[in-house]
Amino acid sequence: MRILMIAPPGAGKGTQGALIAAHFNIPHIATGELLRDHVARQTPLGRAVQEYLDRGELVPDEIVLGMVREAMIAAKATGGGYVLDGIPRNMAQARAAYEIGLELGMTADVALHLQADDAELTRRLLARAALEHRSDDTPEVIAQRLALYYDVTAPILAWYSERGILVSVDAMRSASEVGREILVALEAMRPFLDHVPGQDRFPLDLTSLGEAFGATGSPASASE
Ligand code: AMP
Repeated sequence: MRILMIAPPGAGKGTQGALIAAHFNIPHIATGELLRDHVARQTPLGRAVQEYLDRGELVPDEIVLGMVREAMIAAKATGGGYVLDGIPRNMAQARAAYEIGLELGMTADVALHLQADDAELTRRLLARAALEHRSDDTPEVIAQRLALYYDVTAPILAWYSERGILVSVDAMRSASEVGREILVALEAMRPFLDHVPGQDRFPLDLTSLGEAFGATGSPASASE
C-alpha cells in the first residue's frame, strides 16, 4: 500500500498516518516530524530550517525532497509500501515525489485528502498548542499555515483527481471515526490497486458520508 496524504494543518494527518502505517505495517514518513527532530537535535539541517518552521513557511523543496528520497529508498528495502505525511506541499513537490516514485518503481496508489473547515482546524491547533508547545501553533502562525495550504497545497488535489487516485474523507469527526472510514476505504481498494492503473480509476469522494457515519458538528478533538 503506497499512500500520500494531503490535508490542512490540524486535520489529523499525523494521527491518521500513524494508524495507516500500523494497520498496513508500512513506514510512516512524516516530513514535519523529521524536520522537528533535526531542529530538536540542532543538527546543521535543523539550524538551517528552524526559522521556516517557526514562521509557518515551507522549507526549501530540495531539503525536503532529499529527506523523502532517502526515506523512500529505505521503504523500498522493507517491502515498498509507505505513507507520506506532510509532502507534497506544492505542485513542484508533487511532481518531484512522482518522479522519485517512478524511479524507484513505487509511485503512490492513493492520495488521501482529509477535509475540515478552518474554524475547526484552528480550534484543534490551539488546543494542541496548550499540550505540545509547538513553536508554530500560535494564532498568527496558524493563520499563515492555513493560507499557505489554500494557496499552494490544495491546488495539487486536482492533479491527483485527474490521475484517478484521490480519496477524500470528512475529517470533521473524532480521530477514531475518521480512522475507521479511512481503513475501510483502503481495504476495499486494496485488491485492485495492483491491477487497475490510476488512469482507469475514479476519484473517490466520501466527504458526504460524514454525517451518516457520526459527524456531530462538534467533533471531538484530534491531535495531528
Ligand atoms: P507539519 O508537521 O506537516 O505541520 O509541518 C510542520 C512544518 O514543517 C511546516 O509548517 C513547514 O515549515 C515544514 N514542512 C513540513 N513538510 C514540508 C514540506 N513538504 N515542504 C516544506 N516544508 C515542510
